Amino acid sequence: MSDTDHKLGSNFIRHIIEADNKSGKWDGKVATRFPPEPNGYLHVGHAKSICLNFTLAQENQGTCNLRFDDTNPEAEDVEYVDSIMKDVQWLGFQWHGEIKYASDYFPALYDYAVQLIKAGKAFVCSMSPDEMREYRGTLTEPGKPSPFRDRTVEENLTLFEKMKNGEFKDGEHTLRAKIDMSSPNINMRDPVIYRIKRFHHQRTGDQWCIYPMYDYTHCISDALEKITHSICTLEFEDHRPLYDWILDTLGFEHHPQQIEFARLELNYVVTSKRKLRQLVEDKEVSGWDDPRMPTISGLRRRGYDPAAIRDFCERIGVTKKQSTIQYSTLEDILREHLDQKSPRVMCVLDPIKVVIEDYPETKTEELSAPAHPKDESMGQRKFQFSREVYIDRDDFMEDPPKKFFRLGPGREVRLRYGYIIKCNEVIKDSTGKVTELRCTHDPDTLGKNPEGRKVKGVIHWVSATDSLPCEVRMYDRLFSVENPSSDKEKDFREFLSPDSLSILKTARVEPSAASAEAGSVFQFERKGYFCLDLKDSKPGNLVFNRTVSLRDGWK
Ligand code: ATP
Ligand code: MG
Repeated sequence: MSDTDHKLGSNFIRHIIEADNKSGKWDGKVATRFPPEPNGYLHVGHAKSICLNFTLAQENQGTCNLRFDDTNPEAEDVEYVDSIMKDVQWLGFQWHGEIKYASDYFPALYDYAVQLIKAGKAFVCSMSPDEMREYRGTLTEPGKPSPFRDRTVEENLTLFEKMKNGEFKDGEHTLRAKIDMSSPNINMRDPVIYRIKRFHHQRTGDQWCIYPMYDYTHCISDALEKITHSICTLEFEDHRPLYDWILDTLGFEHHPQQIEFARLELNYVVTSKRKLRQLVEDKEVSGWDDPRMPTISGLRRRGYDPAAIRDFCERIGVTKKQSTIQYSTLEDILREHLDQKSPRVMCVLDPIKVVIEDYPETKTEELSAPAHPKDESMGQRKFQFSREVYIDRDDFMEDPPKKFFRLGPGREVRLRYGYIIKCNEVIKDSTGKVTELRCTHDPDTLGKNPEGRKVKGVIHWVSATDSLPCEVRMYDRLFSVENPSSDKEKDFREFLSPDSLSILKTARVEPSAASAEAGSVFQFERKGYFCLDLKDSKPGNLVFNRTVSLRDGWK
């Protein structure tokens, strides 16, 4: 990967691994995993976790697994599994070996539960959820032991087997670890490790009617896969004692180290799968891959460069302190990447027709310009000059102030790579809208300024003869406030911005953009970066998405 030459952000996990390699704690091995639950599409927060896990493994010639934590069948779906695989690969990573599923370990997890029961470390509890809540205690009060806590090992074994065999109703019993009801850490107050839930599982079908809980499954899956550094977000810090208790109690020799880091939060963005799903289900956006969504598939469709996302994740660093990153930081890094690799074209977003009256009607000239100002290897692009051209409406003012160096009545401007033209007449429709400018050109100024001849303004344009009509979708922020989730009184959807999408149907682009593949990103000179939409753009029906403006501020 070529983006490692950027400054590395501070990353305390990197230091832990260096120290472990030095001390020989894991015999120099590094094995990480990315463990998504397939209950939604991945978002930019997940990208941070993906980059972290895969990069740390790569740097140490280690391995990184992709493991689906599929213990909660009602929310999970194969559509999500497929999208997650695609997103990880698009970000530039390949998991080690076969994909792993927590459900592959269901038989082993069952056996370990039996082992806990036999050791007197787990029991079948028959309290209702309400009773269980009541007995759990609070942060300030200890819990009370379940009346079923002292069931004999034999009784527990029999009941647990019957749970498995489907002899009880959903929720009638649970299997709980027997730890400490007075622990100050509520996670240690005899947590449930198995529940009865009849739900068709996307991989195991109806084979199981009991499903293991996340905390129980996760540590054992890590241990079975011989993960060395089990990296997760800060909310799992309080679960670490349980992670360690389960592995210690079961006597695992290989005991991964759980390390927590602060999740990525960005302003103007929500990164809760539940909220993102709401936006999709309520049709506030066109789907999980709507270019305004902070999902990886949305960013891909928006024209984000995966190298820029990796670079961003590296540069913001990894810490234990929660903070919010400015979205503009991501956009600035994106611009750096897109500037280097995007070919330039001219596109007129909101055209006004310009007729150059002293240019012959049948004449065209073929002009060429570098596809990239700094990278000659990208070659030249060709486009025509002709009597009729289009310029952007905001490059003309009928009554311009002094500092406006573009076109106005009686004023001159250079058409980039073309001639200097002068506006002589303004034609309007009955509503007063400017529909056409009548101009003349200076034939000595093609692509150059003769001695003593200079104009201040240079604007982009396209020729009526060879430019192509296109649709341009001008995307902006999805939310109008920095933290849409901070106001607990209000639904986050109230902060959706009404201006997050405006569609320009009459834009015209230079011909060199036409043959590019869907997904290609261009710099529209003076306007920003735009990509050919992956879904809707077809030859003959070009659709561009605005990826990002040229500068921060969107105007
Ligand atoms: P859920 O509420 O469904 O659990 P989740 O965002 O935690 O949502 P997971 O599929 O469990 O989703 O996440 C997979 C991995 O990505 C986990 O290790 C999780 O810690 C990490 N992750 C999730 N959100 C972020 C984030 N904003 N920043 C960094 N890592 C994240
Ligand atoms: Mg989670």
